[in-house]
Amino acid sequence: MSKLHHVLFVGMGGLGCPAARALVLAMGSELALTILDDDVVDETNLHRQVLFEDGDVGRAKADTAAARLSALGDVEVHARRERFEPSTARARLDGVDLVVEGADNFATKFLVADACALARVPVVHAGAVGWNGWALATDPRALPHAPCLRCVFEDVPGGDVPTCADVGVLGAVVGVLGALQAKLARALLRGDDAWLGRVLHYRALEGRLRSANVRARAGCPLDHPHDLDLRPERYAPSCAF
Ligand SMILES: [Zn+2]
Repeated sequence: MSKLHHVLFVGMGGLGCPAARALVLAMGSELALTILDDDVVDETNLHRQVLFEDGDVGRAKADTAAARLSALGDVEVHARRERFEPSTARARLDGVDLVVEGADNFATKFLVADACALARVPVVHAGAVGWNGWALATDPRALPHAPCLRCVFEDVPGGDVPTCADVGVLGAVVGVLGALQAKLARALLRGDDAWLGRVLHYRALEGRLRSANVRARAGCPLDHPHDLDLRPERYAPSCAF
């Protein structure tokens, strides 16, 4: 039997649920998963958090998702009721082969990108708001520097960025993006780097999925992340995504 791929899911919400489900169904016994989420199941999110049911409301998402994923197939799943934090980021990435990032805020997305650059762990990011979403596969081990989250978005935005808390997010949109994350994760775990350097944009109203080539940004701090400092103030919660 081939080596288990250890995949860390940061966030088990609208993106994490469909992504984890699809990845387990595709790769089950090849995986060891860790689910990180400090939240509880909320009734208003059930339509897009497809691993949860009415009876789960109020239960910890991490534990509940772990139980559902274990029932899907022969897969090892660990649950941690916690957020991905600057102080514990490096320890949580120890032994991890890939991260699927489905956080609902930019601060956590950038923390995942930075910590994974330091630990040289590939990440599949995604985000969604309203009718639109995007996904990006990154690999800090690639030479030359493969486009990363900081190549595309630069830094935690300030000001009036629309948030999913403001305008909502459609269940169908995160469902599609989660499935795409599983596909990208599977490709990276199989050693297929054809998806690096491409941002996938999904526009539900137009029914359109587009792949746009992006370039590594000159001077991107994650090209040489050695002296990157995961200071908590760099990741002050700002706009949700
Ligand atoms: Zn970069």
